[in-house]
Parts: sequence; structure tokens; C-alpha cells
Amino acid sequence: MTGFATQQLHAGSPASRVTPRALPIYLTAGFVLDDFDQAVDHFSTGDGFSYTRVANPTNQAVEQRMAVLEGGAEALLLGSGQAALAVTILGLLQSGDHMLSASSIYEGSRGFFVENLPRLGIQTDFVKDANDPDAWERLIRPNTRVLFAESIPNPKNEVLDIAAVAAVASRHGIAFVVDNTLATPYLVRPLEHGADIVIHSASKFLAGHGAVLGGVIVDKDADRLAYLRDSVALRFGPTPSPLNAFLINQGVETLSLRVERQSANALGVARWLEKQPEVLSVDYPGLESNSYFELAERYLPDGTGSVFSFTLRGGIDEVRRFINALEVFTHMTHLGDVRSLVLHLATTSHNLRTDEQLEEAGIWPGTLRVSIGIEDLPDLVADLERGLTAVRG
Ligand SMILES: *Cc1c(COP(=O)(O)O)cnc(C)c1O
Repeated sequence: MTGFATQQLHAGSPASRVTPRALPIYLTAGFVLDDFDQAVDHFSTGDGFSYTRVANPTNQAVEQRMAVLEGGAEALLLGSGQAALAVTILGLLQSGDHMLSASSIYEGSRGFFVENLPRLGIQTDFVKDANDPDAWERLIRPNTRVLFAESIPNPKNEVLDIAAVAAVASRHGIAFVVDNTLATPYLVRPLEHGADIVIHSASKFLAGHGAVLGGVIVDKDADRLAYLRDSVALRFGPTPSPLNAFLINQGVETLSLRVERQSANALGVARWLEKQPEVLSVDYPGLESNSYFELAERYLPDGTGSVFSFTLRGGIDEVRRFINALEVFTHMTHLGDVRSLVLHLATTSHNLRTDEQLEEAGIWPGTLRVSIGIEDLPDLVADLERGLTAVRG
């Protein structure tokens, strides 16, 4: 008979081996080593599981699924999209190296490139017209190691000509990394168009319900991904919780249904907004009037995504009345949620930009970004109508 303290730790045993249909959540820091020889084997070959920062079966299931969905060789799940970006870049570049990025990218990515990387001796130059191969060519140096762009940058939806940039990267033997967060592999798989690595913020459409953060790296080269996993992520340590991995997996299981509906709703909302006299412009590539319509037809035949911006005539006062009148749209800084979201960029996510930088990014005082959810389209239109009624005063 063992003592109370020993019993509270060891009494009872997990259910005998069963096979759950849903992905089991291995919420554990470590795994029991079977016996002496298996431990020796694990530490020499890497087969099996020992510690969750090294590998975890729940996280691994999501990685394998994402590798298949993006058409890559291997994937790595991380704690956030920023972690996916950081692990990729820190694995591909070292002090003295140089990279090129499209200038229209997520604010957090831009901050990482301009504020953090220079401290590590890594310089980034920005390419304004990401679809002009010569613009990339002109800035390539002998020490350029990475080209970086987003498949659908927000808020302006300048759909990326992935194959055109991939051709430049391949001519110079440089890795081409694409952030595919806004498109998701349901709408476009950049590796099929010549990209080398795809990264995601899984916090957005992959998880889909606005409950967790996560990030994914998918590489077409298994050896390079192994280096990112075993030498970069393992040491820096942005390991996701297996509980979050479960929630991301749960989201991925309905990804196609949500993105299909969100794209259809977004097109409906964009078409309606385009006709309203209070609306100056709508940046949605699913609209025939949009200058990216043809690229969208080529790269996004199954839908043009859920996130776009539109610009109200007038300024801050009109925007304030509009936002405060909305009842269905949630006012928040997030994307890819099942719920529709709205945000005024100039005063929130982009508030550190100068007026000149805002103008260059195509963000005006009246510009609002929406992320369209899966609600009934008439209810979304009625809510926006409510907003425009308030604008009219
Ligand atoms: C949100 C986002 C990120 C950062 O992801 P987190 O999960 O918030 O760290 C990176 N890229 C894009 C395009 C994003 O929308």
C-alpha cells in the first residue's frame, strides 16, 4: 500500500488503448519512454516522442494535414503566425544577408523586418510593385537570400502574380516565401505556382473561429523544413499548445465550407457597396471593375477571399458614425473569423504610419477594412445600410 502523496500521482491508469475518431489532445509536456533501449533509440534516430517542444502527436497531425493541403513535403506548426515568419526568416538568413519583401504586407511582418532584423545584421528592401519582375531583379544583391510576399495582401488585395516572382527567385537560386494567410490553401496553393515555402497565421481562416493563435510553415523541401524544426524552432521555442493544435485542426476540417461562403458573401457585400453614393471605392478583386480581377481569375478561381477595404467619402466623423451604428459587424482587429469584422485602419493597426506612408499604402481617412463572415448576406447588407444611414446623419 503506497502513501497518499504517491497515490494522488499514480493511482488509476489511463484507459486502455482506444481509437478516438476526433483528434486526441496530447496535452502533455513529455512522453513515457518505453524502456531503456527505446530511449536510446529515440535520442539517436528521433523516432517516437519524448518532449512536446521536439514533437507532439496532436501538433504533428495538424502539420501532416497542412503539408497535404498546401502540396508541400513537410510542415511545422508554431504558436503564432509571427512565430512562423520569425522561424522561417531566422532559418534562411544570417548576419550579413539581405532579403526583399513586397511593400504591401502585414504590419507585424513589416515591423519584424524593419525593427528586429537589422539588429541581427539582416537588411530588408521593399518592392513597391510586387507584380513587376524587374522591380525585384533591380534590388537583388549577391547576398539576397529570400524574396517575401503575400498571396493576397490586405487591405488592398493586390493579388500576387506568384509565378512571376517565383521565376525571379528561381533564376537567382533564392528562396521565395509566400504568406498565404488571407487566401488559404482552399483558394490558392503557392507551391504549385513555384513558391518554395508557404507560411500562415493559423489564427485567421485555418482556426477560423477567433479563439486561438497559431502559425504554420509548409516547405516543398523536407530537409530545409527539418532544419527549421530541429535547429531553429527547437531552440527559439515557439511551440504551440496541443490544445490550440486541436482547435486549429477542428477549424481546418470546415475550411472549404467557410471560405467558399465567406468569398460569396464578400462578393455580395462588395457589389452592394460599390453602388452606394457614400462609398468612394471598393478594393475587392472579385469585382470586374478591380484592376486585379484578371489575376484573381487566374489564381483564385474558387473565390476571391473574405477580407477587403472600402473607402467612405468624408473622413473621421463619417467613419465614427458608421462604425458606431453597426450591430452585426464586430468592431475588432482580427481577420478570417466566422463572424464579420470591421476596422478603421488609419487610427488603429496603422496608427504609427505617417500620412505619406498611409497614402502610399492606399489607406485614406475614410478607409475601412472588413473581414466577411458566414452570416446571411441580407443581414450583412442591412447592417452596412444602417451604417450608411448614420453617415448621412
Ligand atoms: C495575422 C497575420 C500574421 C501574424 O499572425 P499572428 O498569428 O497574429 O501572429 C501574419 N501575416 C498575416 C497576413 C496576418 O494576417
